[in-house]
Amino acid sequence: MNEKVSALIDSYSASFTEMLTKWIQIPSVKDTPAPCAPFGAEVRRMLDVAMADAAAMGFATRTFDGYAGDITLGDENKEMLAVLGHLDVVPAGDGWLVPPFAAVRDGDKLIGRGTSDDKGPSLCALFAMKAIKEAGIPLKRSIRMILGCDEESGWEDMAYYCQHAQMPEMGFSPDASFPLINTEKGMLSMRIKSPVAADGLQVKEMFTGERTNVIPGESVAVLEGGQELVEKIAAYAAKTGLDYQAELVEGGVKVTATGIPGHSAYPEGRRNAIGMMLLLLRELGVEGAFKTLADVYGMEHDGASLGLSCADEVSGPLTCNMGILHLEDGVITATLDCRCPVCADLPGLMENAKAHLPGFTVEGDWKQPHHVPADGELVSNLLAAYHEETGLPAEAQSTGGGTYAKVLKQGVAFGAAFPDDEDLAHQANEYVYLSKMITATKIYANALLRLCAE
Ligand SMILES: [Zn+2]
Repeated sequence: MNEKVSALIDSYSASFTEMLTKWIQIPSVKDTPAPCAPFGAEVRRMLDVAMADAAAMGFATRTFDGYAGDITLGDENKEMLAVLGHLDVVPAGDGWLVPPFAAVRDGDKLIGRGTSDDKGPSLCALFAMKAIKEAGIPLKRSIRMILGCDEESGWEDMAYYCQHAQMPEMGFSPDASFPLINTEKGMLSMRIKSPVAADGLQVKEMFTGERTNVIPGESVAVLEGGQELVEKIAAYAAKTGLDYQAELVEGGVKVTATGIPGHSAYPEGRRNAIGMMLLLLRELGVEGAFKTLADVYGMEHDGASLGLSCADEVSGPLTCNMGILHLEDGVITATLDCRCPVCADLPGLMENAKAHLPGFTVEGDWKQPHHVPADGELVSNLLAAYHEETGLPAEAQSTGGGTYAKVLKQGVAFGAAFPDDEDLAHQANEYVYLSKMITATKIYANALLRLCAE
């Protein structure tokens, strides 16, 4: 890369740390709306601080009523390349070993909510722009960094921005991981409903899961029966090697299935506790809707027995997760969250599911997949920048999750977590390595020069 730009970035190390520390100390968690602060006062304060810092670097900035702000390097009238980051953070949650908004420094680590998602990576991109500006490099494309304030909730920030400003066509979002994600699976969300059968084993209580996109790690049910049933459950646990605990309670047998929780888009190595419970219920003689669900879902996460399984080379296989199963007044309500490859026909898949769920009503909605070709100008230049700065293999990847990048017609997620980094998204003790932030800054500068320098 341009040596002057690279040396400038090295010289920013202390000011980068100082600015990130200041940003982390603002707890920009979504809160009650206030005037000109649609996501709460702290999110608004964060936006104002970010815009003031960018203006102090000499950039042109604009804010959009507390929804978002933008920072521009180059001529307004030229084609723009977008860089999409966000300033809001998820709540701290439990389990922190240090105060989550104190920005505690531990050697090369900076610990705090928002260090990696997404204040650190956003600042990397901003410092990359600063280096290009100070090196005086002429641009054929301008660079517009857009910082949103509602990425962690409803993406109202981007909706508002698109209504009030011209969203560039092409760009990247430093809000995921390196090397680069150019494929996001489609999402098919189904809600299914059926009354339970009057014959067979009776399930008196079962109410598992709160969110469709979570693989539940525990499912509890109360079944009609006595000591004999407790023994049958113990025998099934022994036979399968799965974790089921049963005990006599007033009115029946309480059984707990313990699986391995996770995110619905990444079922590999996880175990859905609802699926475990369904298989146990079938073994114990349940009939009707519960038995159907055991037959067509069970412990599969590829949707095969629901007629959903499909895959393609750019996106990998479909995944299917039952995040919720609630039994109320003799009716089962459950959800299926499917992450579908680019090749999939989403309404067609829903018809397949209906055909495999006799007796159920099936409702659904879907979001189409997002894909930017790997051999185009954007992806090839970003991957080349990453490879040049790190020497690491650079291949485009697919995700079942959602990234900010799909706001752009030609948008990809690019950094700033490295392949060997711990995955700390939304967890306690989130941190970044400051030295890796400098590397990420160089990758972004390299990429911006490839795409935007004259
Ligand atoms: Zn994020």
